[in-house]
This record gives sequence, C-alpha cells and structure tokens, in this order.
Amino acid sequence: MIETTSAARHVLPSSETLLRRRAEVVAGVVRHGFIDDAQPLCGVIDLDTLDELMRDLAVTYPPEMPALHTIAAKAITLRPVLARFARAGFGCEVASPGELELALAAGFPVERIVLDSPAKTTSDLARAVELGISFNIDNFEELARVDDVLARVGATRSIIGIRVNPQTGAGAIGAMSTATTTSKFGIGLADDRAHIIDAFAARPWLTQLHVHSGSQGVRLEHAAHGVRLIVDLADAINARVGRRQIERIDMGGGLPVNFESDDITPTFADHRAALQQAAPGLFDGTYGLVTEFGRALTAKAGTVVARVEYTKVTGGRSIAIAHAGVQVATRTIFAPGAWPLRIDVYDPTGRRRVAQPCVQDVAGPACFTGDLLATGRELPRIRPGDLVAVPETGGYYFSTHFSYNALPRPAVYTIGSDAHGHRRWSLARRAQSIDQIVAEAGEPALVPLPA
Ligand SMILES: *Cc1c(COP(=O)(O)O)cnc(C)c1O
Repeated sequence: MIETTSAARHVLPSSETLLRRRAEVVAGVVRHGFIDDAQPLCGVIDLDTLDELMRDLAVTYPPEMPALHTIAAKAITLRPVLARFARAGFGCEVASPGELELALAAGFPVERIVLDSPAKTTSDLARAVELGISFNIDNFEELARVDDVLARVGATRSIIGIRVNPQTGAGAIGAMSTATTTSKFGIGLADDRAHIIDAFAARPWLTQLHVHSGSQGVRLEHAAHGVRLIVDLADAINARVGRRQIERIDMGGGLPVNFESDDITPTFADHRAALQQAAPGLFDGTYGLVTEFGRALTAKAGTVVARVEYTKVTGGRSIAIAHAGVQVATRTIFAPGAWPLRIDVYDPTGRRRVAQPCVQDVAGPACFTGDLLATGRELPRIRPGDLVAVPETGGYYFSTHFSYNALPRPAVYTIGSDAHGHRRWSLARRAQSIDQIVAEAGEPALVPLPA
C-alpha cells in the first residue's frame, strides 16, 4: 500500500507545474487570438494534466485488482475529451439518454458504460438491457419494472446492480450530500436492509451493489465508512445465497477537490488508503471494483480565461467587469460559499500580475447583481483589457452551461504535449454562435396544433 501511495504521487503534477502550465495557457490564448469582442472568454483543458490525473488513478489500483474506472460524463460533456478517456481504457458513467449517446459517440465500448439515472424510463431500461450496458436500480418500483423488461427481452449481458444509500449523514455541502437519511438516491440501507437482501436472493441476475458515498465537502473517512457498510451488505448477500452472487462493487464519486491552491490534495491514493482502512474487504479479491470519479479527474485540468471589459469604483469598492460569470460558473455564482473559485490576473499581453494587491469584486456579464465571480477579494489591481484566469474549472464548468441572458456557450480549447514534447493546441468545442442562440429560441412564430 505504501509503494502504491508513493508511485501514485510521483505522476501528479506539482503546484509549480500547474501554475506554469496556466501561464502558458493564458499566453497561448493571447498569441492565438482566441479572445476578441465576439468571443470574450474561452475554456482550456490541459491534456497533460488530464492524462496525469488518469494515470494517477490507474496506478492507485494494482493490476491484480480488476477495477473499471469510469469518468462521470456530467463533469465533462466534451466529446473529444471523453474520447480521450475512452482511448485510455476508461469507462463512462452516464445518467441520461443524452449522456449515454454521448458516451457511445465518444467511443466507449458498451461493457465499459454504467447508467445511473434515478429516473430511467422503461425505454431507457430496455435500451440498456438490449445494448448490454451496466446499470444500477434506484428503488423497488424500478426493480419491478426491470423484472418486466427482462421477462420481455430475455437474457442480457448487462451487469445489473442496486444503488444503496448507506444513510451515513451529510457532508459540508447539503446539495452534494448523497448519503443523508432522506437523500433522494438509492434504497436506504437502514430502512430496508432485509428487503434488499431478499431482492438479491430472489434474482440471481442482480450481481452488483452501487454506492455513491462522498463528494465535494465530504471527508474521506466518512465516505469510506459508507463503502464499508455496502461491502458488509455484499458479504451478507453472498452468505445468504451461498455463492459469490455480488461480483462488483460500484463506487460513485468520493474524492473532493482542493479549490484553494494548485496542490492536488487529497489524492486518489489518499482515497484508496481511507477505503483500505475502513473496508479492507474491498481489496481481498472477492469483488471487482468500479469507480466513478468526475471532479477529481477533471477540475485541475481546466481554466476559464475571460477578458476584463471595464473597471470602476462604486461605494468605495473596486469592481472589475469581466466576461465570465453565471453562464459558466453557475454553481459558484449561486452558492459562492460552497464553490469558491480562485482568480489569477494577467495583463493584456498574457503576463501574470502580482503587484498592487487591493480588495476588488470580479463581476460577470449577466444582468443580475449576484453575478460575481469573486467578492471583496484581494487581487493584484485589475485594469481594463486584462485577462482573468479561473483555475480548477475543468470539471462541471464546461458541461453545465446556464443560458441566462442568452449568453453563448464559450469555445473550449485543449493544449497538450505531442510525441516530441511540444505543447500543441486543438479545438474541443466551438463557441455557440449568435445564430444558434436565435435558432434555439423557438419557432419563428407560434405553430398551430390540431384541435
Ligand atoms: C456525479 C456522480 C459522480 C461523480 O461525482 P464527482 O463528485 O464529480 O466525482 C459519480 N457517480 C454518480 C452516480 C454521480 O451522480
């Protein structure tokens, strides 16, 4: 375990490396002219950082322990970036028909896709069963529906599981806490342990247990305790039926991201160490493992870069009006206490500013008062035409666009080393055009429907 920990650490980029890469990103954005009046902000994914995070997760679990690592699609719905995960051997965790089709389009083989939506329609279930996609059942009513679908379709290659809520309580962010007594996800372990065991005993095709324990704001030990309860449940089911019916434990999320500095902490190795401590049974070879990480695999690889349009002083407060706000940083704007973001300031030529720190607000472009990326933050004096770079935005920030004020989805570029070690730029997603916004705003006129 110690060896794994140190091996895992050495592939992760240092904080100096991440800062240097970000400076390179901003300089490249300036040099390539990615930012202009038509596109005053963009996103950038650093593929080197992304690859290092992927490799770090892979080396954290030894080859003798068969683990399927999936990327949670909702964290990064960029097709060519998902395709990179697919090529690296990752699977994909999806939660809607759109995410499922995106995963297939990105090249994930069906046996590496896991479907976790809590509101699967009968058609969703039939499609998963027909394709042989693994999925996790959320509740007893869905279980009865799957009985019907299987009776109709017959045999399936899908690995089918039940999502169990360990009911271990909340973390620091209510909306991110999947394991409270009354969380909307899964079947409550404390409520229905005996019924869950009966359900498995009656259905030999149920071979997986799913638990989403831990996310942003949840301590590793707390998350690991939830997993322990699920491993105990798997042991109880296998003991009851007298064979190894539960083959896989599927663990959702679990690793928070440090949004306060360029340090990557906690690491996948820390997460694994907490699991090893709390749930050693997970590592004794009885169970295959599925992981579903989103933010931890992506956040540190992404940067939003936006131009500052104006600066002013109102009521004694210095305010910089920039082009990144609620449309890209939706969670941060609506819950700034839970989702604070750092801001780096660069001059118009792409050089990082460090001098003249003063307290400023960094506002976004949307027409509501709360559209603030940072409030009362001490930052180097910002001037019009400067660029603000927002680190740790590789997860969710490019996949969770908010169309307020009809602000377009920004372009997302990538930078990454080629075979000769040269850092090359590519386009991952075009910006949404103003024409697209108009076209998506409804029919040119009301379309009369038959009476
Ligand atoms: C969102 C989600 C994940 C990923 O969570 P992160 O906190 O981004 O790692 C994994 N599994 C399920 C079921 C999810 O809903």
